[in-house]
Amino acid sequence: MKTPVEIVVTGAAGHISYSLLFRLAAGELLGLDQPIVLRLLEITPALNTLAGVVMELNDCAYPLLHKIIVTDDPEVAFQGVEYAFLVGAKPRQQGMLRSDLLEQNAAIFAAQGRVINQVANPKVKVLVTGNPANTNALIAIKNAPDLPANCFSSMAMLDHTRAISQLALKCEEPVTAIKNVIIWGNHSCTQYPDLHHAKVNDSEALSLVEHDWYIDQFIPTVQYRGTEVIKARGQSSAASAAHAAIQHMRTLVYGTAPGTWVSMGVASDGSYGVPEGLVFSFPVTIQDGQISIVQGLELNEFSLEKLRINQEELIEERQAIKHLL
Ligand code: NDP
Repeated sequence: MKTPVEIVVTGAAGHISYSLLFRLAAGELLGLDQPIVLRLLEITPALNTLAGVVMELNDCAYPLLHKIIVTDDPEVAFQGVEYAFLVGAKPRQQGMLRSDLLEQNAAIFAAQGRVINQVANPKVKVLVTGNPANTNALIAIKNAPDLPANCFSSMAMLDHTRAISQLALKCEEPVTAIKNVIIWGNHSCTQYPDLHHAKVNDSEALSLVEHDWYIDQFIPTVQYRGTEVIKARGQSSAASAAHAAIQHMRTLVYGTAPGTWVSMGVASDGSYGVPEGLVFSFPVTIQDGQISIVQGLELNEFSLEKLRINQEELIEERQAIKHLL
């Protein structure tokens, strides 16, 4: 039997984790011959709820689930982990200012960054899902000085697959016909879903759809999809977010197919004029676990303006938590 791989999930009693954990235990991340240890981190008041989730995981008798470790201590949770899903984050409460939300989550991710730096496997891959995901990833990177910044990435995968799905529906093509959509910027409503480089089969996507549809329907539909799901379901997207988290991590493990890319929040190297270090969603390719920002894409005035707005928002977020960097 292969040696079990250590995977940590934070916010393990939350909605997203309720889908994510069962899929990890079924082998959807690393395959059907790779046993795993699930290390589940929660805040102390949520441990009771988490106990119920653990009962359900045990009840499934997953052959690949070697062991479950439940804890409210980050040092236990992150010990030796190769894959880290940082899902837990404080939700915005009524009357809370955006700056308070940023600050409270930044404190959580600063602490987790420090512990990951100390006790995780040095080759750890960390996916930040908890919002504000880009800035939470930035703060974790800054607090993990012994790890390369590219161990950390933030999730734009659900926005990416939402864009694929909307374009496929419009063109009446299967999603497999679509490639190279891009989500630029922040995982917020400011994000820029870009079709200028997307293809449907081998045709330019923008030659197949009306310009007005792209501007007035496609972009806002992708940007506000999360809000629409909450309106319809009364709860935020959870199963699709869990699916995206697995897709993101699988792409880090298995790489991108030749000629294609995905969107991920990664520390900028200055590409496309985005200030160095800012965690910004770019089109990226992955080869042998290495993340590379796709270079040389032409950006028109419209796209440049959208990138600029995203940069400004992320710089503002960074400013609000600069004392923790
Ligand atoms: P969810 O599981 O629904 O969401 C978790 C986080 O993922 C939220 O910040 C959410 O942001 C974010 N998110 C990112 N992308 C998406 C997306 N596309 N769709 C939906 N959500 C997305 O939250 P719950 O409140 O159910 O669970 C969070 C858990 O975290 C709780 O059990 C809580 O106890 C725990 N927690 C743990 C902490 C820790 O580990 N120290 C600290 C605080 C909480 P958004 O809210 O903007 O939707």
